Amino acid sequence: MSRIKLLPDSVANQIAAGEVVNRPASVVKELMENAVDAGAKTITVNFRDGGRDLIQIKDDGCGMSPQDARMAFERHATSKISSVDDIYALSTFGFRGEALASIAAVSQVEMHTRREDAELGTRINIDGGAYAGQRPVATPKGTQIWIRNLFYNLPARKKFLDKGSTEANHIITEFQRVALAHPEIAFRLWRDDAPVYDLPAGSLHQRVVGIAGKGSAAKFLEVGVTTSLVRISGFTGRPQAARQRCREQFLFVNGRFFRSPFFHKAIVQAYEKLIPQTVQPPYFLYLEIDPEEIDVNVHPQKTEVKFSNASAVWQIINAAVRETLAKSGAVPMMDFDSEERLEIPVLGRGDDYPPTLREPAVVRDRGYNPFTMYDVESPGGEVVERCAAALGEDYGSQVYGASEFEYISSESDASQDIFAARGDEPKAFSAPLNIGEGYAAALYGGVFVAIDLRRAREAVLFDRFVAMLSGGRSATQQLLFPERMALSADDGHLLRDHTAEFSALGFDIREAGEHAFEIHGTPADMPPEALDEVVYGVLDELRDGVFDGDETRTRRLAAVMARTGAGTSTGAARLSPAEVKALLEALAATANPSFTPQGKPVMAGIPIDEIRNRLK
Ligand code: ADP
Ligand code: MG
Repeated sequence: MSRIKLLPDSVANQIAAGEVVNRPASVVKELMENAVDAGAKTITVNFRDGGRDLIQIKDDGCGMSPQDARMAFERHATSKISSVDDIYALSTFGFRGEALASIAAVSQVEMHTRREDAELGTRINIDGGAYAGQRPVATPKGTQIWIRNLFYNLPARKKFLDKGSTEANHIITEFQRVALAHPEIAFRLWRDDAPVYDLPAGSLHQRVVGIAGKGSAAKFLEVGVTTSLVRISGFTGRPQAARQRCREQFLFVNGRFFRSPFFHKAIVQAYEKLIPQTVQPPYFLYLEIDPEEIDVNVHPQKTEVKFSNASAVWQIINAAVRETLAKSGAVPMMDFDSEERLEIPVLGRGDDYPPTLREPAVVRDRGYNPFTMYDVESPGGEVVERCAAALGEDYGSQVYGASEFEYISSESDASQDIFAARGDEPKAFSAPLNIGEGYAAALYGGVFVAIDLRRAREAVLFDRFVAMLSGGRSATQQLLFPERMALSADDGHLLRDHTAEFSALGFDIREAGEHAFEIHGTPADMPPEALDEVVYGVLDELRDGVFDGDETRTRRLAAVMARTGAGTSTGAARLSPAEVKALLEALAATANPSFTPQGKPVMAGIPIDEIRNRLK
């Protein structure tokens, strides 16, 4: 007897399904692409429980005849290729006629479809790849398909699905990719019966804004370059739109999303000196290139594309983005080379000279002065008072010298703190001198110091936010004019899921329409201008699962708010003498005036003894 057996079709399909369908999002992608290929003008996607319960796609495309509807679920059934040459001629990719067969092999499928010229449509059911009936049905022109209980017949696989919200995020990402590739088609997305996106057909700019959130229109710059090799169009973020862990980064080639760490670098490098290395710009770039120039892997899960002229394309992308930024007037605010001008030796670290007063300081200037709250005349000054009052204690009376180093990252080193060993008596700053470039000079506990004002502000804010958060009492400053924020759908969901945490932080946020929120109040002491950045920073922390009252986490959150709230060095450079004085008083009152929560030194200095020695 032969030991070789042919696998039954149903098993072969299940195995192949593993390649096409590895999670609910891949089902969504395949079905959306089928609807696009069918010439639909409007495509609606609906899913429940991260797509595990239900994925439903409705289109108004060409529909199928009853025969075609049945054929469509056969492996290698496709209306798109009839000869091998067709595969190479296609400028898009992924057609090989196995998506429907694969999806049907691992779920319960129902499809209703009608061609325009037919009076009645057809309804077909397939269960785990097995045909389960077909009959006429009244249905609108086009196709509607329900995928239920994905992987119900492959429990081992089902087990590996992530929790609903993670799968939902993957679905949203796939939806965004397809929707961004086809602004000429209207798309809607529903999640657990709530609308997520409603994107009318329109221009590419409208689509990008539709995806990135209504408030984003002004964040983008248009890119447009044509060379004999490639045409590049689309949008790239203004430097101010850059964020940590920016996820709005999309590259398309010939109308399909693809992934390319290589070209990603071409874009990010174009922002060199405009943004710090810790943040990244959003971008939506579309390449059009002769299909002969690219090698597209037809594997449906692969989103990589090989370019035969990759380095030339890299240069063109980089130049296109640079040019766009240059035309917009986004130029470095300060020559970075000038930063090392200030060189003050740090005591006891003579072997490490020049000292650590360096940081890619200035990166953007949003045209505001984040320090205004220190202006004693401004209403901001009252905020500090109110905040202190709300905490029921005088900031000035806080404990000195309590070590905060447990929190500080490896970068810091307590031995760097030349002030720590100098006794426990409270120290104060002498009348400071603003020496420009964001630094002030003063005497502090017998040491002649230069203070980085931006970092000083960060240290002050950190202390206050920690006190607020751990005291469970947050002080809110009401905004005169509520600030409106239109978020992307997933940020919107995240914020909605965490309104309680946001109010614990002192935010007064109210929902105002689809993924839009009105901010009526912000944490006291947070410069209102830093609002966007703080909200996004907190959202990023929350996305990482940070926040459950645990102390380190509280401090991480406080650190995010302090960092973003502290503004820029340019802002710091513009402080008035009175503001500098108030800032240093607040700094002296913090638990740890010497370091920022990130462990960066706030000041560097020379003890008077040392000066005396040197002048001997
Ligand atoms: P492929 O898209 O690679 O051809 P699929 O398995 O995804 O393979 O689909 C098989 C065939 O079913 C398609 O070629 C198309 O003729 C038909 N089909 C699938 N979805 C739709 C739809 N939404 N509207 C019309 N026809 C469709
Ligand atoms: Mg297909």
